Amino acid sequence: MASLVGNCGRSITRSHPGRSAQKPRCSTRSSALVRRGLLLTAGLLVSPLAQAADSEFASSAALAMGNRQGSFMLSDEEWRSKLSPTQYSILRQASTERPFVSPLSNEKRTGTFVCAGCGEKLFSSEAKYNSGTGWPSFYQPLPNAVSEVPDFSIFFMPRTEVRCKKCQGHLGHVFNDGPKPTGQRYCMNGAAMEFEVEA
Ligand SMILES: [Zn+2]
Repeated sequence: MASLVGNCGRSITRSHPGRSAQKPRCSTRSSALVRRGLLLTAGLLVSPLAQAADSEFASSAALAMGNRQGSFMLSDEEWRSKLSPTQYSILRQASTERPFVSPLSNEKRTGTFVCAGCGEKLFSSEAKYNSGTGWPSFYQPLPNAVSEVPDFSIFFMPRTEVRCKKCQGHLGHVFNDGPKPTGQRYCMNGAAMEFEVEA
């Protein structure tokens, strides 16, 4: 179960370990260099995981920002005013919410999960299942609702990003460890969606 939780990716609460570390105070040059090397190494290892909104690293997610344009388009200013900071961080900057925080994880009513950015219908409640990961999970999206894009932002773990097809907002990732009938696990950020109860 723990591996499933880890599979869903980064936490938006991560800060920059390399940047926040204290400067070396050692007196000898050699130990300072060693410390600097360690900090650099730590930065290289950790930076792909640190996807905070103000990330200074050119991650693939950041590079993909230029292509995050669908048929539903807003300016960056309009997105910022339309979305909450958390929604903006996820939908427009590909961050990942912490597990077990979204009320949509436990949503069991009949209805449709729609994009919080543009309102597009994304997932039917019929395709929702309890993955135990703490993120809303589905075995399939609605037809033509999402785009799937290779994501190499974690260098040792190539993944497939799932975006809303209409606004290209980041929704989450899809993995091959889901249940029947598809075997797919669409691991979604709850804050990227809203739920419409079927009347
Ligand atoms: Zn959308």
